[in-house]
Amino acid sequence: MSDPTRAAVYRGPGRLDVTEVQLPTLGPTDLLVEVAFCGVCGTDLHNVLDGWGVPDSIFGHEWSGLVVAAGDRAQIGVGTLVVGSGLSPCGECVSCRAGRSGLCRQRGAIGTERYLGAFADHLVVDAAEVLPVPDGVDARSAAYVEPLAVALHAITLAATQPDERVLVSGCGPIGAAVVAVLLAGGHTDLLVVEPSDLRRDLAERLGAATCHPDDLETPWHPGFTVDEPADVVFETSGVRAAVESCLGQLAGCGRLVLVGTGLDFPRLDTGRIILNELVVTGAYNYDDNGFAAALDLIASGSLPLDLLLEPGTIGLDGLLDTMVRLRAGEVAGKVLVRPGA
Ligand SMILES: [Zn+2]
Ligand SMILES: [Zn+2]
Repeated sequence: MSDPTRAAVYRGPGRLDVTEVQLPTLGPTDLLVEVAFCGVCGTDLHNVLDGWGVPDSIFGHEWSGLVVAAGDRAQIGVGTLVVGSGLSPCGECVSCRAGRSGLCRQRGAIGTERYLGAFADHLVVDAAEVLPVPDGVDARSAAYVEPLAVALHAITLAATQPDERVLVSGCGPIGAAVVAVLLAGGHTDLLVVEPSDLRRDLAERLGAATCHPDDLETPWHPGFTVDEPADVVFETSGVRAAVESCLGQLAGCGRLVLVGTGLDFPRLDTGRIILNELVVTGAYNYDDNGFAAALDLIASGSLPLDLLLEPGTIGLDGLLDTMVRLRAGEVAGKVLVRPGA
């Protein structure tokens, strides 16, 4: 065992203890990273508030940090600013060979193992699971790379063209990232459906048109479409009623990409899928090289990170309270934890 570090340890549904923990001993290819920033993700809310997590885990996977010690065979040196890339796909399984390394079956299944993440002062990580941050990108912006890579993967699977009509269901961090990327890529016809005033306001400041879910119509007959149907719908909320309303917004041959998760399973109108030949797909994790693409996009300066990232930062002590506020929709942008704060 190596040195202790302070961490927010998950004890059970709705319970986090900020306490000292022992870090694993540094292996030959491992890095000891001093966490700079770590974003709070919807997955963290499911793990901590909904009890999906394995007790004694430390969550937090959207991090940037400084390498402060390195194993003797690690390919990255002390003093390097890095981001977690979360993946070290095997390269050999069916998913990897199909170019879908985000589904690599050699990696542990979600929610089945104790997780040791970055809601901590330090973490130990294999050098194969990080990327150096390019010059000109600060640690705060770099911490946005993981949610951005998730949004990019959803967009890849949708194969959205700039002249298509797009609807984004939900404007939490992933919805907002999808909106920002599409607008930066020249899309103009973009409607965000979101019940929270705060998040609709964020969508508008990003440059999207918005509406409240109550204002959506669903054609009474599954073969009919609305007056201005979407070619692509991104469902990012995971909320049952929102998911169920998406199919009715699509044009013939439309595509629905499901990114948000929830355990209150929706009922989908299969008649509508059949009569309009709709394509429904899930989007999980990232494109091959998705982190590098996301870092490039951050470095390009084309995304309004000042809008996408919540101003200010919270310390580990404020994490649980912030999770509750995020769940209540009281925060619009991506919240960053600064463990040292
Ligand atoms: Zn995440
Ligand atoms: Zn694999």
